Formats: sequence, structure tokens, C-alpha cells
Amino acid sequence: MKIIIAKLFVLAFGGGLILYGALGSIDILFVTGPKLERSELVEPGVMYVPALIGAGIALVGLVLLLGGWKRIKRFEKLERDFRLKTFDWYKRTYPHLITNGEIQCFGCGGGKLQVRALMQHTYHREHFCPQCGTTLYYSPECNS
Ligand SMILES: [Zn+2]
Repeated sequence: MKIIIAKLFVLAFGGGLILYGALGSIDILFVTGPKLERSELVEPGVMYVPALIGAGIALVGLVLLLGGWKRIKRFEKLERDFRLKTFDWYKRTYPHLITNGEIQCFGCGGGKLQVRALMQHTYHREHFCPQCGTTLYYSPECNS
């Protein structure tokens, strides 16, 4: 639910800036600018400055849109991994790597796991192999 709101926000905000900047530029270059130049209210060529500013605004909108979208996608993937890549999943997928409670890394075979909290309101911890950096599985944080 929160992700949908974030998506709408990124689309509306980034898309709004793109439309605003691009339409403003087009208007200045092809409609308002030539009209003002014909009526000799402005020097020829002076309208390129606001047109460039408009293009800049559109560019900022595009960067925000793509950057925001990428962040949301990354978060979505993480949320999916939290649900899928649990210890149970690891046990089911790599039963041969777990012996007497000792867990081995599927990437390099290392047997020393480390745990780190992911923060940023994810409420999950990552169990990873310090030897090769591979994430093995996730577990929810205990809220006690
Ligand atoms: Zn490893």
C-alpha cells in the first residue's frame, strides 16, 4: 500500500516537472517567444534563456523520476526477498549445507555467518557470509 503511494508520488512529482519544463520550453520557443519577438518587445534570441531553464526543469524531473523509481524497485525486491529468502527457504534449498546446526555459504562454502540489521524501517536482519559477501537469508527483527 505504502509502495503504491510512493510510486504515485514519484510519477506525479517527476512527471509534473517534466511536463511543466518541457511544455514551458516549447511554448517559449515556438509560441510566446516568436510572438514577443515579432512585436519587438524582446530582442531576438533572448527567449533561449528561459527555454533552457525550462529544459533544465524537465531534466531535473526526469532524474527525480528515474532515481525515485529505482529506489522503489530496490525496496520492492528487498520486501520480496524478506518473504521468500527465510531460514526455512535456505534449509529447503540447500539441505546439504546445513549440518548439526552449522550453516555454510552456498557461494563459497564458508562456515562463518554474520548478521547485520538492515535499518531504514525494514525490521529485518541480513544473514550474510563475510568471506564472499553473499546474502544467505533474512530474518525479522525481534521487537522486544
Ligand atoms: Zn561465502
